[in-house]
Amino acid sequence: MADTIYDVAIIGSGPAGYTAAIRAGQLGLKVALIESASVLGGTCLHVGCIPTKALLFNAELWDHLKHATDYGIDGVEGRALNWESVQKRKASIVTKHTKGLEFLMKKNKVTVISGYGKLTGAAKHPSDEDLSLGAPAKDGMHRIELAGAKGETSEVKAKNVILASGSEAKTMFGLKPDDRILTNIEILAVQQPPKSLIAIGAGAVGLEFSSIFRSFGTEVTLVEYLPRIAPFEDEEISKELTRVFKKRGIDVNTGAKVEKIEKTENGVKVTWVGANGKAVEKEAEKVLVAVGRAPRTENVGIEKTRIELDRGFVKVNETQETAEPGIYAIGDIVAGFPQLAHVGAMSGIVAVSKIAGRAFRAVRRDRIPACTYCDPQIGSAGLTEAQAKEKGYTVKVGKFPFAGNSKATIVGSHDGFVKIVADAQYGEILGVHIIGPQATELIAEAVAVMELEGTIDELMFTIHAHPTLAEAMLDAYAAVEGMAINA
Ligand SMILES: Cc1cc2nc3c(=O)[nH]c(=O)nc-3n(C[C@H](O)[C@H](O)[C@H](O)COP(=O)(O)OP(=O)(O)OC[C@H]3O[C@@H](n4cnc5c(N)ncnc54)[C@H](O)[C@@H]3O)c2cc1C
Repeated sequence: MADTIYDVAIIGSGPAGYTAAIRAGQLGLKVALIESASVLGGTCLHVGCIPTKALLFNAELWDHLKHATDYGIDGVEGRALNWESVQKRKASIVTKHTKGLEFLMKKNKVTVISGYGKLTGAAKHPSDEDLSLGAPAKDGMHRIELAGAKGETSEVKAKNVILASGSEAKTMFGLKPDDRILTNIEILAVQQPPKSLIAIGAGAVGLEFSSIFRSFGTEVTLVEYLPRIAPFEDEEISKELTRVFKKRGIDVNTGAKVEKIEKTENGVKVTWVGANGKAVEKEAEKVLVAVGRAPRTENVGIEKTRIELDRGFVKVNETQETAEPGIYAIGDIVAGFPQLAHVGAMSGIVAVSKIAGRAFRAVRRDRIPACTYCDPQIGSAGLTEAQAKEKGYTVKVGKFPFAGNSKATIVGSHDGFVKIVADAQYGEILGVHIIGPQATELIAEAVAVMELEGTIDELMFTIHAHPTLAEAMLDAYAAVEGMAINA
């Protein structure tokens, strides 16, 4: 290994790193993928996207069974939730895809290196010879110092390096997660659904776990500092989600500043100051802290390079290259990116395409689907109505409720709507905001439409199959011109 010079060495095997590695292999680059954990896949595969979506599917089935008699299915009244089996199924899904990744690495001739990687300094210096970072490597290669699980060290040399070290859950008041104060990691491993749960933070993670455990009968309290839940979505989405969550029995608290988290004899007590300025105390069996994720950019040798940080996140240009030539950053550590697996994956594809001298399209912030897989689901892309107006567009809005969609009636899911934000002058679609059944699947059409700069005139004549939930998209496009057929 010591004498091998890789075209690209990637630090971190989450969705950003492994996607970059596979594409690099496909492009014929000599690639090393460095991972400190015992398995490939990162947060997404082990304690993020995949296990949560597995539990959400269990929750959805369980909710359907609650209404089984409405669908003419009798005899399931005595149903019982076997949590151990739920957990086993989740684990088997994760294992299957972990093995899948190992296979893909072999298939694409990626050298997987186990160990903790750290940049050791700049490989080259710019013409002004900035020697404050130490002497440049004579061979112009980047070097990564590698520490193995048993403390053994070695070195990896590469022409290019991609940093994909990901993120980890932020905690509050310096509290360490345990069996009662949980982050996404501990909550995924609970022995039983808790009787009561306070979720602090109403972004995707807080919303999804609130939804899962509410389905399984947990008394859920959601506490959000900002004035609304799903705070980065269009305001109407937050309003509809609040309505449905309350209908589902979730206690939703917004504008709530958490002041204290204390262990009690049987659980945890959270104190917050509510929107009305009054202090509220509530006790629950468990607390989920879901207040955002910090980039893992400490202790990877960044200080020995010219890489620039913005509040801990790495600044990059549109090729994902940092201020240190030949070092790229992708995924959750990138400044200005939403922390999503598909953003990480695409940024990895961009970086290796650049390295291989291939054509690419830079990641565009306004073409990213944002999905929250709670019940009801949210799928959105592009500008919210308020953002479009702030940017100076004269907007036209079309909104179509799932209540008017026949497939939504068939699947028994009538909450929510599709909202289209379009430019009034040319009819270009600026944003699509969906809350309701399969919103996370439906949003794919909207992203494709925006990527192709589709207009309302074109989309109103795009045939959508009947009966489908996707027809709600057609009706919403037509609603922009006040001509939805089914409302
Ligand atoms: C509960 C939860 C649910 C989520 N659900 C979704 C979802 O449904 N859809 C979605 O798009 N996103 C979801 N996300 C976000 C998604 O998981 C992240 O955006 C994604 O994992 C980021 O990928 P990444 O490759 O940048 O980093 P990570 O997945 O965090 O992977 C980084 C990897 O780098 C390794 N590493 C770090 N430092 C070093 C080092 N110095 N040397 C060697 N290895 C190192 C780590 O061990 C890790 O394996 C969810 C997140 C959470 C917490």
